[in-house]
Order: sequence, then structure tokens, then C-alpha cells
Amino acid sequence: MLQLKEYVREFMSCEVGDGRFASFWFDNWTDLGQLITLIGDNGPRLLRIRLDARVADATRLGSWHLPAARSDSAQELQIRLIDDIPPPNLNRGSDSFLWRHVPRFSFATWLALRNRLPTRDRLRGWGMDVPSSCLLCSNGLETHDHLFFSCPFSL
Ligand SMILES: [Zn+2]
Repeated sequence: MLQLKEYVREFMSCEVGDGRFASFWFDNWTDLGQLITLIGDNGPRLLRIRLDARVADATRLGSWHLPAARSDSAQELQIRLIDDIPPPNLNRGSDSFLWRHVPRFSFATWLALRNRLPTRDRLRGWGMDVPSSCLLCSNGLETHDHLFFSCPFSL
């Protein structure tokens, strides 16, 4: 299961600087979306890039360094990298992140990241007499993890 932090990063775009923080597979540092979604779960094996690799790990001596493409999506990625995306460079500073979505959604996500949404488990924690079950599906406790990862109504 994705950690909440990774879930949030799906909704941010990343501008690559030195490529030492941005996740190769999970951050949106190309306009192709998350590469693990584009290439698929066998991506790390196909491209010989570990699941926890940083963008800089896909370069060698300042150039993109990927094995010969063995799928259409891998080829699409290679063309995009070579044509449009300069390799990470120490002179460009740290990788930076921007919200991709509307501010209201981003604010809700920011609250969730900080574990601040008034979910029923928190309301009960404050002494309020509310049911603990999920308002949307009535299955399971209404917690951040439930709303974001397991509630059938919000997925
Ligand atoms: Zn639910």
C-alpha cells in the first residue's frame, strides 16, 4: 500500500534540479505522469532502475542512461527524455515540487498530510458523541487511512 506521503506526491508536479530527491518512478517529473503507472509494475526490471531510485540514478556522466527500450511505453519515455528533458544537473539546485490540482483539493490534501481532517475518529478523540463508522460506507472506522485508501466510496 502507498504511504500517504507518496499518495500526496502523485498530485504534485516536480521540477528536476539535481535529481537527488525526486523519485524516478513515483514523482511527476515528466509530463507523462507517474512512470510506474506509465511503464507498469515490471518497469524497474525493464529499465534496470530500482523502485526506490532517484531521477539522478537514471543518468551517467551527465546524460540519460537507460537500457534499450523493450516496450512502447519505455520507448515513449526515452524519446521524451532525450528530446525534452535535460538531465539533472548539480548547478540547478534541489528538486522542487508544485501542486498540480485546484487549491481547494490541495488544501484538503495538505490537511490530510498533517493529519488534521475532522474525521470521526478525531471527533471522538475530542470527546464528541458521534458514531465511529465511516459516514460514506458504514464499513470500518472513519480514519484518514480509511478515507484515502480503503473506503469504496472515496476511491
Ligand atoms: Zn468508508
